[in-house]
Amino acid sequence: MKVKDLADYSYCKRKLYLSKRFGLELLDNHSENVKFVNDTVECLTSSLNCNFKVKKFAGFIESETNKLVEGKKSKVLFGVNLKSGALSGRVDELIITDGEIVPVKFKLGNNSKNVWDSEKIEMIAYSYLVQNTRRFNGRVKTAKIFYADETVKTIHLNELSFKLLNARIKEINALLDESKPPRISRNRSKCEACSFKDFCYSLPY
Ligand code: SF4
Repeated sequence: MKVKDLADYSYCKRKLYLSKRFGLELLDNHSENVKFVNDTVECLTSSLNCNFKVKKFAGFIESETNKLVEGKKSKVLFGVNLKSGALSGRVDELIITDGEIVPVKFKLGNNSKNVWDSEKIEMIAYSYLVQNTRRFNGRVKTAKIFYADETVKTIHLNELSFKLLNARIKEINALLDESKPPRISRNRSKCEACSFKDFCYSLPY
């Protein structure tokens, strides 16, 4: 299971079901957000010229990262592949200071000051993967999302976080054993922003 599957499940259970059972992941992999984030990671890690919007975001990321590492011995990694058991994902940035690691995700759009459930579970999953990767040898107390509009969301982890993650993984496995997808979301505004909409609405169930 990928970390993204957990976020999709929170966004819309039907979306995750269609993604996994009908192999629609590619639709999302080509989304504007995915391309923008990949370009940003490349901009931060190479000397290639990047466009104005990406460069501006990369500058914001560097400035936020500097605030977190100021005065501490630190290491910063970008685009890190993580895996533990059946769960895997690629986190955009890891900020490693003495004994503490902050996983960071980059995102294009921020439409709320609140941390959405999909964002929370996504960052808990990255935190779990980081803590279960022996070479990092550190604890995660907080995870962050840096947005291109230069806002930041912070997710605080507690003793219940990984229990929530385990419960969610079990729910997803049960959903994928179902013979039909869940019904169309009642929240039609989600559908308007969904890359699966045409396929989803064309199904007879
Ligand atoms: S179109 Fe709506 S119901 Fe269908 S997968 Fe997307 S969000 Fe879910």
